Amino acid sequence: MGSNRILTVSKIKIAMMPGDGIGVEVMDSALHVLAALEKRFGFKLEMEYHDGGADLYRRTGVALSDESFEAARKADAILFGAMGLPDVRYPDGTEIAPHLDMRREFQLYAGVRPVRRLPRTPSVLADPRAADIDLAIIRESTEGLFYSRGKGTVENDQIARETLVITRATSEKLFDFAFRLAERRQERRGRSGRVTCVDKSNVFVAMAFFRKIFDERAAGFPTMKADHAYIDATALDLLRKPWEFDVLVMENMFGDIISDIGGGLVGSMGLAPCAEIGDEHGLFQPSHGSAPDIAGSGKANPTAMLLSTSMMLEWLGTRRDNQALQDAAEALDAAVDRAYAARITPFEFGGRDGTKEITRAVIEELG
Ligand code: ATP
Repeated sequence: MGSNRILTVSKIKIAMMPGDGIGVEVMDSALHVLAALEKRFGFKLEMEYHDGGADLYRRTGVALSDESFEAARKADAILFGAMGLPDVRYPDGTEIAPHLDMRREFQLYAGVRPVRRLPRTPSVLADPRAADIDLAIIRESTEGLFYSRGKGTVENDQIARETLVITRATSEKLFDFAFRLAERRQERRGRSGRVTCVDKSNVFVAMAFFRKIFDERAAGFPTMKADHAYIDATALDLLRKPWEFDVLVMENMFGDIISDIGGGLVGSMGLAPCAEIGDEHGLFQPSHGSAPDIAGSGKANPTAMLLSTSMMLEWLGTRRDNQALQDAAEALDAAVDRAYAARITPFEFGGRDGTKEITRAVIEELG
């Protein structure tokens, strides 16, 4: 590997925000694994630490400083643990969640939640085909019903209103993203190339508009399979035959709910990674929260964090056309699979493996 490539990669800056509770513990695991990957694949990321979250808010009255927010804007990617604690709230009662501000401010419209069964993990579904679950939910994350956040009204204590917004500009980008993801999944993992637009277009004009734009954009990806499903039928099919899905793309509120079904299908919050992608920015974090009930016990499963780190490497590698980063992402996913196949049984499945053991097993599998 030439020194030029190492020089190029070394300019990649990551804003690292461990946050609260187990966010700190799983981030520590990611740093160990990243160090092993850097050594093996010959790259070096600039990791820039930023304090933030409910604990910082309790100490200082600020959840994330303006400097940290701006550093995140300037960074090539944001690697995020978890922020928020149940007993720490803003004066209006809402949760400490600076990542929601980043989602809006950095226009992170594509929330990607891969749902993949890992080897030897228990399944909530009895059907043996459940071992083949490998799908990706894309939740539009800047508009839809959540566009109304902070704008809803209640009139005379009699009637409440929230307005859902779908824009052509965001929907076009969202669908193109979904089709490109399906192309990559087909190319690299032999997935089916099926992209399902999940909506309620039989009832709402906004959803019919959403579906119309999906069909328009699908025409630009003739080798992918464009497909439609209603949200209610999708909820049912995710329990009946989730192995048939590949990429599912949907409005914000639908995605919020369906993502949790996805987490349930793979059995644990500790296994569900997440990427929030915009045109210029990417934020990568596990789907779980700070889990104060297990913080400090060493029981936190870092797998979701490690798979989110892999998504970051893959995204950076594709954007920078850097093969070392893409190879590192692939190697990390494979190492996680091998570690589960060979020996890992996490605490949440009744096993004895916590943060340290799982991190060590993945690093060993990396070789
Ligand atoms: P938030 O609202 O911030 O998402 P939450 O309270 O809804 O947080 P989590 O903090 O994700 O949810 O925790 C939910 C449950 O899942 C808890 O019992 C927690 O211990 C468990 N859990 C979450 N993440 C992990 C993990 N990485 N490893 C093991 N158990 C976890």
